[in-house]
Amino acid sequence: MRESILAACLFAAWLNAAAANVVFIDNQSTQLSTRQQLEAAAGFYGLTMEVRSVQTEKDGDALLRSFHNPDLLAVVINANALPMLNQRSFQAALHEWHPKIPILIAGINENSNGEFIKQWSSGVIIGGEKSVVTKDVGWYVVASGSEVTQQLGGSRLPLLASDPSYLKIKNESRTTRLMEMIYGSSKLPVFARTVADGRNVFFATETSAADIPVTSDPYRQQAVFASLAPMMLFLHYGADEHAWHTPGSYANFTIDDLWLREPYGHVNYEELLQQAELHNFHATVAFIPWNFDRSQPKMVSVFRKHPDRLSICVHGNNHVHQEFGPLDSHPLQGQVENMRQGLARMERFSALTQIPYDAVMVFPHSIAPEATFSELKRNHYLATANSLNVPSDAAAPADADFVLRTATLRFGNFPSLRRYSAETDIPQTQLAIDAFLGNPMLFYAHEGFFAPGIDAFDKTADLVNKLQPTMQWQSLGSIARHLYLERLRDDGNYDIRTFSATIQIANTHKRDATFLIEKDEDFSQPLIVLVDGSVYPYERSDSKLRLVLPIRGGETKEVAIQYNNDLGLANVNIAKNSFRTNAIRLLSDFRDNTVSNSELGRHFIKSYAENGRLWNLAMAALIVMMICAMSVWFGRRRRKTFRGEGRSFPSSQLS
Ligand SMILES: [Zn+2]
Repeated sequence: MRESILAACLFAAWLNAAAANVVFIDNQSTQLSTRQQLEAAAGFYGLTMEVRSVQTEKDGDALLRSFHNPDLLAVVINANALPMLNQRSFQAALHEWHPKIPILIAGINENSNGEFIKQWSSGVIIGGEKSVVTKDVGWYVVASGSEVTQQLGGSRLPLLASDPSYLKIKNESRTTRLMEMIYGSSKLPVFARTVADGRNVFFATETSAADIPVTSDPYRQQAVFASLAPMMLFLHYGADEHAWHTPGSYANFTIDDLWLREPYGHVNYEELLQQAELHNFHATVAFIPWNFDRSQPKMVSVFRKHPDRLSICVHGNNHVHQEFGPLDSHPLQGQVENMRQGLARMERFSALTQIPYDAVMVFPHSIAPEATFSELKRNHYLATANSLNVPSDAAAPADADFVLRTATLRFGNFPSLRRYSAETDIPQTQLAIDAFLGNPMLFYAHEGFFAPGIDAFDKTADLVNKLQPTMQWQSLGSIARHLYLERLRDDGNYDIRTFSATIQIANTHKRDATFLIEKDEDFSQPLIVLVDGSVYPYERSDSKLRLVLPIRGGETKEVAIQYNNDLGLANVNIAKNSFRTNAIRLLSDFRDNTVSNSELGRHFIKSYAENGRLWNLAMAALIVMMICAMSVWFGRRRRKTFRGEGRSFPSSQLS
């Protein structure tokens, strides 16, 4: 009874709008970009924001009352509002309630009043100045060794506009430069911190709104992050545990198309395992279910002995070109049959080998349409991981929250993760941003990647482990079970926003706490919630599923949303009786284990993967030409023969 009253109270508190975490003080929004950037950064971290417009000094005095707010974590002041504020009474009022929270003075440019900036920085920063830096030749660099910049230290970020402003610093010894613009030999500060009146006060220059085209390209992240960097760094520092953060840092390296034979192309599992242990990474095989019954016993034993370093996920079903391709050429019903037969074959694989598999789908060739995502969810898959996380027939969302996270739940309420090809150069900045944001880092390659040596992935693993020393390399299933965000509430409990339907929540906080869990759900099919296997009550609120779960300090609980769909996998036919599929699979084996052995062969495979249509056309043309050539040759032979026999025919009768 007491528990249900507590749960009801927490639900009520949950639904009530919280007081603002961030107060933004602005003067007539002449600088819309500063406000928009702050809104985007606050949204990413799940912080509520209140905008206070001050036109007169009287407004400035009235504003001081908003500090009587226990949820306040940070204050941001647009530089153009400084003349309306009395610095002394402002600091005194803030000190009374919040002696520690940081202030950011943003939007500083050449028109900002230097006297006020000097006053708020205790004389160390004296204003802003317009630069002559053009975006083609300059860039930003983030300072190393700071608790504010963390994993981003030393990273280069793109400059998005020309002639940006920089800070004029009078006293370098009392200022910490956090971001600079690099232009030739000049290093111009754009984001800095000082201590004024015993408080951390940050200063950032104005960054004009950047025109970054909206695409599904994951590498857009660098430009989008650059446009928000001072706001992101400041709020991350100010809000700390109160900002959305992931429960840990996770990474995975997946090799597509392999099955358990040694070697598969250039992959020798025993040697790969040695590298994974030496360089601390985890390798997952994206396994084509068609291969379920052909594993070599010795390789089965390697996988069974090392689940911490080697694992299996699902790669299509037959891997017959784009079996999860556009719906007009690949009807949904056929795709559903493929995903179910894929699972049934993987169940059989597990029964034969005693090796578990993760129902995480890596689509062959390219990502599927959105409707396929809903079916994956309905058919008990955990997640999907591909080079793009936007379905083939959907548009990429325009907001920063989408591009700054590796995972999204926007399509069919099903977790979709993006992964990077280890076969191309991945910009270090992209990985540093992922490490800073806590994004899972997923990499992939094919067997040919190891042609130069089984150590081909080591340098990427080393870089990731250097950027994030606490990185946990795990299977895709384990990553899916930790795919959620967590934040500390003002009442000492925790909010959880989950992407996955099944998650493991560890209460690592050395005290008992209640977790308020929320997931986007379309409720298109009946569901139940299980906690450690037992049915557990939940609330439905529009498109959200919510539950309240107390967890003792040091304990872990598994929350699983189970969709009502009896898969009946035991009755699914898993026989391999399609001549076409069998031929394609055996040709693929020939490609990876024979053609791939020579450099010329690998060039052909790469070219075929990139220009398959052209190669098919070229092959067809070649076959037509060969048929023509042969018929001419036969024709001549016949003519010769006939001539030999002393008989001749008019040429028109030969065509
Ligand atoms: Zn493949």
